[in-house]
Amino acid sequence: MPRNPDWTRDELILALDLFIDAKRKQLDSSDLRVIELSELLNRLPLHSGRPRASDFRNPNGVSMKLGNFLRIDPEYSGKGLARGNKLEQEVWDEFAGDLYRLRRVASNLRNSVQHVVAERQARYGSAVAEEEFPEGAILTRLHKVKERNPRAVEAKKQSVLQATGKLACEVCDFDFHMTYGELGANFAECHHQIPIAQLAPDYPTRVSDLSVVCANCHRMLHKSRPLLEVGELRAIVLQQAGHAASEHEA
Ligand SMILES: [Zn+2]
Ligand SMILES: [Zn+2]
Repeated sequence: MPRNPDWTRDELILALDLFIDAKRKQLDSSDLRVIELSELLNRLPLHSGRPRASDFRNPNGVSMKLGNFLRIDPEYSGKGLARGNKLEQEVWDEFAGDLYRLRRVASNLRNSVQHVVAERQARYGSAVAEEEFPEGAILTRLHKVKERNPRAVEAKKQSVLQATGKLACEVCDFDFHMTYGELGANFAECHHQIPIAQLAPDYPTRVSDLSVVCANCHRMLHKSRPLLEVGELRAIVLQQAGHAASEHEA
């Protein structure tokens, strides 16, 4: 059975809101409010594409999370000093002292679920979504999954950093670190160059298949019809820069 993904910030905010609403008590798994939150968490599109066990965010798991908040709560005098994990503590520190904000954020989260789920379905189901490859939505998703392979992306960035000392866009030379300082350090996107028709689900992402690109150039690559290669888009960018320079002189 796959291990369930860790609780995200959004999920913990909803659980903390329930904990406060329950007068800082651990409700048990048969409580209607616990069951409702369990159902809501199962509808949230936060962990799509990741394996879920059959007990994913079940009422028992929700009740246990309330128990974690109970033990973080300084007003709790019961025995057992087990503390919550780092993210639970962070969410507590941020929201327990500002219950007005907690209430607002949690209710906004609940109200947005329907909208976000519907919007995703619309995009996934529509024939011509923006920046979808001609081969369709499924293979466009496969391309995106392949180029977001965290191990391959990190290896690619490290090898480029070692070779050139920076992560410049292969199309336009944009350098996130240079423009945004520390915030942009080690930041870049990677584009997968293998044509989508040849991309099979079991095809591993190799470092040599990836190109370092900035966010703008990456979108332009995905938008181009027929699909441009990195070198072809670079030629366009250089040509445009040449035009701009000569207009400036005139
Ligand atoms: Zn670029
Ligand atoms: Zn791409």
